[in-house]
Amino acid sequence: ETVSNIIAAGEVVENPASMIKELLENSLDAGSSAIRIEVRNSGRDVTISDNGVGMSQDDLFLSIERHATSKIFTKDDIFNLHTYGFRGEALASIASVSKVKLSSKREEDEGGNSITVLGGKVTSHKERSMNRGTEIEVRELFFNTPARLKFLRKKGTEYAKIKEIVLKEALVSPEVAFTLYLDGREVIKTSGRGMQNTILELFNKNTLKNLVEFPLGYLGNLELTRATRDHIYTYVNGRYVKSALLEKAVIDGYYTKLTKGRYPFVIIFLQIDPHEVDVNVHPSKKVVKFSEGNTIYEEVLERIKEVMEEDEE
Ligand code: ADP
Ligand code: MG
Repeated sequence: ETVSNIIAAGEVVENPASMIKELLENSLDAGSSAIRIEVRNSGRDVTISDNGVGMSQDDLFLSIERHATSKIFTKDDIFNLHTYGFRGEALASIASVSKVKLSSKREEDEGGNSITVLGGKVTSHKERSMNRGTEIEVRELFFNTPARLKFLRKKGTEYAKIKEIVLKEALVSPEVAFTLYLDGREVIKTSGRGMQNTILELFNKNTLKNLVEFPLGYLGNLELTRATRDHIYTYVNGRYVKSALLEKAVIDGYYTKLTKGRYPFVIIFLQIDPHEVDVNVHPSKKVVKFSEGNTIYEEVLERIKEVMEEDEE
């Protein structure tokens, strides 16, 4: 494995949670309606299976090549991202820093295929009978990059990050059933039966009861005092993003005499012209920049204020 591959891998696969995020986005891109995630060994061993469209044998071999992507066709497509993945780096990166077994089957194929990959190279190929979809088994993440391995936190910390990532993906895909197991224990289970059910399944009855639907999403009512900054869930064009601008708009809009110093529980889904969003600021695609930042700030602020004012009446 070349040094540059491994360095690039470090940017995409920072830790088990960021790896899982990439894999979930692949499963969602493939149109899956059910995704199962099994995690062991502090996040170094991960198996994800989906019921998406799957890959042909050729595409399976191609998928682990750097810049192999079925998702960009012209330069202009880079500015019109409707799918999550767009760089063709995730699988190549993951395969370069772990031991991977990748299996897949399409509807039209009689049987599926399975390849094992070590340090980025295919070491074996077998036919495999399986249902439509894709399964990736990652073992011993960072086995060949001791420096990265050293940066892994204790199991509890890595597991908390993984749970948060899966929750954020499940929240924005309420039509998809997610199951997450940590060391064999089921910690997340959604049924894929819509937003109300998904919120109920991810949080608790109280959260749902106190939630107000508004034009941009959902806002928890004032009684939910335990919310922190982490309970501001913001999505742009279906992708979870962290944005200081959006966070500030929410907090400023939420501010009243009564809520002073508190954070809301809020879920916001924004649709913004892809030309006005730069998602390439950071390889993790989590940090975004808006070209019309002021307009977006005002819009979010005003919508939240409206809910707060209605609530006061
Ligand atoms: P990207 O998602 O940016 O295209 P990835 O490295 O994440 O790049 O994946 C490479 C390719 O492998 C994808 O473009 C897709 O064609 C295929 N692929 C990956 N995961 C799946 C999956 N779960 N189901 C079907 N195809 C997949
Ligand atoms: Mg991808």
